[in-house]
Amino acid sequence: KPVIALVGRPNVGKSTLFNRLTRTRDAIVADYPGLTRDRQYGTGRTGNHPYIVVDTGGLSGEQEGVDPLMAGQVRSAIEESDAILFLVDGRAGLIPADEAIANYIRQFNKPTYLLVNKAEGHSHQLISADFFQMGLGQPFVISSAHGDNVKETIDHILDEVVTEEEEEKAFDLDEHPGIRVAVVGRPNVGKSTLINRMIGEERVVAFDMPGTTRDSIFVPFERDGQAYTLIDTAGVRRRKNIKEKIEKFSIVKAIEAMESCNVVVLVIDGSEGITDQDLTLLGLALESGRGLVIAINKWDNLTEDQRNKIKHELEFKLHFVDYAKKHLISALHGSGVGDLFKTIRGVYQAVMKKVSTSDLNRVLEQAVLDHQPPLIGGRRVKLRYAHLGGSNPPRVIIHGTQVDKLPQAYTKYLMNVFRKAFKWQGTPVFIEYKVTV
Ligand code: GDP
Repeated sequence: KPVIALVGRPNVGKSTLFNRLTRTRDAIVADYPGLTRDRQYGTGRTGNHPYIVVDTGGLSGEQEGVDPLMAGQVRSAIEESDAILFLVDGRAGLIPADEAIANYIRQFNKPTYLLVNKAEGHSHQLISADFFQMGLGQPFVISSAHGDNVKETIDHILDEVVTEEEEEKAFDLDEHPGIRVAVVGRPNVGKSTLINRMIGEERVVAFDMPGTTRDSIFVPFERDGQAYTLIDTAGVRRRKNIKEKIEKFSIVKAIEAMESCNVVVLVIDGSEGITDQDLTLLGLALESGRGLVIAINKWDNLTEDQRNKIKHELEFKLHFVDYAKKHLISALHGSGVGDLFKTIRGVYQAVMKKVSTSDLNRVLEQAVLDHQPPLIGGRRVKLRYAHLGGSNPPRVIIHGTQVDKLPQAYTKYLMNVFRKAFKWQGTPVFIEYKVTV
């Protein structure tokens, strides 16, 4: 999946553009109240092209071209990206700070696109001429707030950035046998230890595969007659001969692993409690739509107080992922790992289950009888029929009148009804509405 980085001074409209580019998922995620979203990373799709967007925050362009405090963070975001979208403010015109940022960007040697924003109501020709002298090619004149020319620009950029080879690679995913399990988590939570537990030490040693730092390693293995492919974001194999830790925490890598898998195992360090970064990963896991299991690790090493604290946090911080099972494990000693596998298998079966359209509609009909949709503008919202738009995650598409105006609570109600009826355990259920007249 191509990663595009949004770069530019503060207030040029990066977050407005970010919101526009990630809105498809926003609508779905909005149905999960309580979800903490990371406003920096998001996914979206235009036509057939899925992508990941990173908002790098603002570069002041003042001290030697970049704000030194931001530079480290921005640098790693840019390094992970496939294309840089450099935003400037069309109303302000070209200012020296933009030039400084342009110089900074040039050193990365990445495909760079100049986007002139806030251009509504201005002559595109005049604006282009002003910014053309930056030497970054013909600028794309857009308005993020109004959406003018945004889709066209992104389509154009993705067409150039996504090579055929990459598209084929994404297509190859099904060649990885069995249940694809992504193990994700912050550094040091015990991912590598858990992975070694899950696949057995010898397997890891025998396995070798080159990859860039952004790529995860796919490790096939078998357990109790079930085939699995483990998606290792920790780089266990690469670390084998190196004593010091080389993991660089990469959200992009975690997103890609999640999107490539059937079931996410999110590892949390029980001794540290649930941190903001854990919540970010959980939000992204929910957005990915994959099955989810939460593993609270290092249970062996916790005091009674720590255990109580984390149990409390599980109850009060994680209600937005209440569909996911929580396992208290010790990757080091192996306790709880067998049960973890049972849950993974169960979740996989749940997400892959075939559901017929007639069953779906029977359940929908009953749900409406039990609990009528509200009146909106004096007319009752009508849910006419439903069909399944996909599995892993199960996507229920409901057609009806005014369905776009249904309150969140009703969607939540339907989700629970469907989850119960079809035993969709351990997976988010996505509901989409199509308005009919
Ligand atoms: P990663 O960065 O997520 O891959 O984490 P590692 O697997 O390298 O583990 C980080 C540290 O936590 C190492 O010192 C492990 O030995 C330790 N560790 C991992 N799992 C457990 C566990 O279940 N219990 C205890 N007590 N320590 C653990």
